[in-house]
Amino acid sequence: MRPTEDTYRFQGLRKKLVKEIQAKGITDERVLDAILAVPRHFFLESAFGEKAYEDKAFPIGEGQTISQPYTVAYQSQLLEVKPFMKVLEIGTGSAYQAVVLAEMGVQVFTIERQKKLFEANKEFDYLKKYKSIKFFYGDGYLGLPTYGPFDRVIITAAAPEIPQKLIEQLKPGGMMVIPLGAGDLQQMMRITKLENGSLKEEVFDYFSFVPMLDGKR
Ligand code: SAH
Repeated sequence: MRPTEDTYRFQGLRKKLVKEIQAKGITDERVLDAILAVPRHFFLESAFGEKAYEDKAFPIGEGQTISQPYTVAYQSQLLEVKPFMKVLEIGTGSAYQAVVLAEMGVQVFTIERQKKLFEANKEFDYLKKYKSIKFFYGDGYLGLPTYGPFDRVIITAAAPEIPQKLIEQLKPGGMMVIPLGAGDLQQMMRITKLENGSLKEEVFDYFSFVPMLDGKR
């Protein structure tokens, strides 16, 4: 069972979590406000209790994880979203990252390849208030050509290479944030598609994500 009640205690723990990720280097107030607004404990089984506000990744079933809040904040900050932008997310997982982005005022299109996780989100009542998030079951490597092009693409699984189809679905001037690498650690990259179609690549810190896999299951 998932918890459905937010309490002062949980709100207090969220304030502490926000201070923690701020101390780790997150400065974008809009990102910090979104983390403060989203009850992360709703995205986990009740048994996690207050642990939901530790700055850690946790299992969500099917061998997958809810990303660490710092990582969610880091990717959200690099994405530099503006209200009403169209954002494509690969790897819905718990839907926590998608909700953080929705809180920042963008339209989210999120894809998950694991049927069980996709189905679990359909039953997750809290998500119903987020009309600005659209959920898709499919292979993220293919993107959503009929819904694009997108202002931003965020990949929340370790990509062994830059998925070309997703670059194609970026608007000119659009940006992709992607943890790149096939080993245990991936380097966070931001790829900007310039107006002339060429790509600008920027490199950031190392993280550890579950792998981005081909096909559905
Ligand atoms: N954004 C999530 C992180 C989940 S972990 C959150 O906030 O909790 C990464 C997720 O990516 C997993 O659920 C995994 O099943 C999914 N994934 C891996 N490869 C994928 C692909 N090719 N297409 C869509 N989802 C994928």
